[in-house]
Amino acid sequence: MKTFQELELIAPLHRALADENYSIPTPIQAQTVPAALAGQDVLGCAQTGTGKTAAFALPILNRLAVSKNRPAANRPLALILAPTRELAIQIGASFATYGRHLKLRTSLVYGGVSQVNQVRNLARGTHILVATPGRLLDLMNQGHVDLSQLEVFVLDEADRMLDMGFLPDLKRIISQLPRQRQSLFFSATMPPNIVELSQRLLTDPVTVNVTPKSTSVERIEQQVLFVDRGDRQDILRQLLALDDVQRAIVFTRTKRGANVVADKLLRTGIRAVAIHGNKSQNARQRALESFRKQEVRVLVATDVAARGIDIDGITHVVNFDMPVEAESYVHRIGRTGRAGAEGIALSFCTQDEYDELKAIERLIGHAIPAMNQRPQMDRAASQSRPAGRPPQSRGRRSGNGRRSSTGTGSTNPRGATRSRRGGGRAAATV
Ligand code: AMP
Repeated sequence: MKTFQELELIAPLHRALADENYSIPTPIQAQTVPAALAGQDVLGCAQTGTGKTAAFALPILNRLAVSKNRPAANRPLALILAPTRELAIQIGASFATYGRHLKLRTSLVYGGVSQVNQVRNLARGTHILVATPGRLLDLMNQGHVDLSQLEVFVLDEADRMLDMGFLPDLKRIISQLPRQRQSLFFSATMPPNIVELSQRLLTDPVTVNVTPKSTSVERIEQQVLFVDRGDRQDILRQLLALDDVQRAIVFTRTKRGANVVADKLLRTGIRAVAIHGNKSQNARQRALESFRKQEVRVLVATDVAARGIDIDGITHVVNFDMPVEAESYVHRIGRTGRAGAEGIALSFCTQDEYDELKAIERLIGHAIPAMNQRPQMDRAASQSRPAGRPPQSRGRRSGNGRRSSTGTGSTNPRGATRSRRGGGRAAATV
């Protein structure tokens, strides 16, 4: 494997990488950086945790530092589009880290906060603009952003962006891009609509496929615990009380669920905070900061809110609710085990979530080791299903609208931290 020294980056970038103690490029960096430095378009199939941010940030910083082109007011030279505010903030922080020895300006544009500061930063002229699609389009329509001088365009987490319904916004933004530009396109998955979008955006791209969706989750020990719905909070509390749970993210399906779980943990003396889309951007940042600083040990999050969170040292991910989409499972558990660390992912599975579990196991290509006796899932799932409902449909509820639950034996959470590592290695190729 090449070292960073072998990549033809300018000295201030090498210094920043040395500051970070990065010596070996990750596979996506090794494959992407040389092509991007040479000005080629890139199609990268990679998810968060693979080092993809540096894979596009380093060549952009290198290019802009070398060219010495000065940005005019409201006319950025590089645009990075990200699906969520958290991811945009994180990408901005990465540019600040890698570009710390350069005099390039990076600005952020995202919704949920006042646009005043964002407009002011744009007017001062910014080399790099990191934005979410909605607010960017808004500011473009108001005349605060003009993309005519753009040299590099990055679309990050394209699949998630489409999942979140950003395609119409995206199309409008893309229609304003100059013809002459470099484009870098990253997506964790490549369904047909993403392939089509990439073909519209890219010219003769270098295609890089770091299947380490598996690499990033390879070091994560995965386990499933079959539980009664009503027992989950108690089991969670027991689990989180264990010493080796230093920092945990608990995933719930709904915003309300996140609040309820966090409140109940707080009441039992476990420092927890909820983060979800109904909270203001400032509240979300405060929650993340207190988690980052270890003032709280447990972050309770919904999928969208947790997207792009990059906090080192998360020892445990708990799926309080199974994710509705199997792909989200890989994203969720990827919050732990980042940058080569190991982590534990524990999923609670109630009787009416068996279909979700099976979909996840199909996706990752193996069964997730169970901490207690695995019920006969096919039979149990079909028995709990009202006649005429297809097996994949969601929301199988009993007549009173409540989900049913089942007792499935021992629910000792200690097993989650005691069991041998490696039993649940993922080989996800989403
Ligand atoms: P990303 O996939 O861009 O979200 O990056 C995942 C994590 O890996 C981040 O915490 C980065 O700081 C870290 N990282 C990126 N590149 C390297 C590298 N070459 N060596 C060590 N850590 C890295």
